[in-house]
Amino acid sequence: MVSNDETAQRMSSKRLIGKVAVITGGARGIGAATSKLLAENGAHVIIADILDELGAKLADFIGGRYVHCDVSKEYDVEHAIQFALKWKGRIDIMFNNAGIAGPEGSIMNLKMDDLRALVDINLNGIVHGIKHAARAMIEAKRGGSIICSSSSAAIMGGLAAHAYTLSKEAILGLARSTACELGVHGIRVNCVSPHGVPSEMLMSGYRKFLGNEDLKPEDVGKIVAERGSLIKGRCGSFEDVAQGVLFLASDEAGFITGHNLVIDGGYTSACSQMS
Ligand code: NAD
Repeated sequence: MVSNDETAQRMSSKRLIGKVAVITGGARGIGAATSKLLAENGAHVIIADILDELGAKLADFIGGRYVHCDVSKEYDVEHAIQFALKWKGRIDIMFNNAGIAGPEGSIMNLKMDDLRALVDINLNGIVHGIKHAARAMIEAKRGGSIICSSSSAAIMGGLAAHAYTLSKEAILGLARSTACELGVHGIRVNCVSPHGVPSEMLMSGYRKFLGNEDLKPEDVGKIVAERGSLIKGRCGSFEDVAQGVLFLASDEAGFITGHNLVIDGGYTSACSQMS
């Protein structure tokens, strides 16, 4: 029997009508653009972040909901998913996007406490997201799409960003192994790997690296466009990544799992020619 939501979805250009999405780190940057795009495509979006004011304002704007959620705390992530179940009775899409940069510098000076703090967010946060989204999706027997934020750093390495690189590479392995386990339940697990999108996170890295606290998004965009993109000398945008997530979330990507969608203007595939 075809539901009203399914009929509406077939008749509309919107690709996610009736679907429910939880987006960690959805209050700004790539997560905010994805929250907007998924909502425009008919999804009910729950923004899960630690930036309460920004997140609540955006959730209001897109007709979604906001929950405070520190992804390093398993309980917070479980609560965000329970919130989705209470609000709409389902979760179809989990975008594990929250992440931080740093610490940077030589491996010889890496403080293990700093490494643990980063891994708690960038990697354990994703473990929490996959674990609790999968539980809810399996229980509902409707399948689902889980998307995790990795990085070009997982492929190329990051200049003196060892902890970040380690966490992002581990995410690729985790997505592949969970894709193997969860495929039998119709749950797909994929990654997106952006590069050089001038967000707050990227700028904080560039400011430290170049020792220039006044660096603006357009300055970083220019550097990336010159050195890190093959496409018309432009850098990536939040929307470029959001479009990739929309595709992986949608039924059009129904046969794609365990995949890493690199969104980098050709940077990683052509890096050897560019250096
Ligand atoms: P951003 O700093 O604008 O956004 C990160 C979001 O994550 C923010 O909303 C922040 O509040 C949230 N966040 C941070 N710690 C959190 C925590 N403990 N719990 C919940 N939320 C938390 O940066 P962005 O570039 O939009 O980053 C989004 C993701 O994309 C990250 O995982 C990042 O590693 C990845 N990424 C970005 C780029 C890029 O070029 N910008 C490249 C590769 C990968």
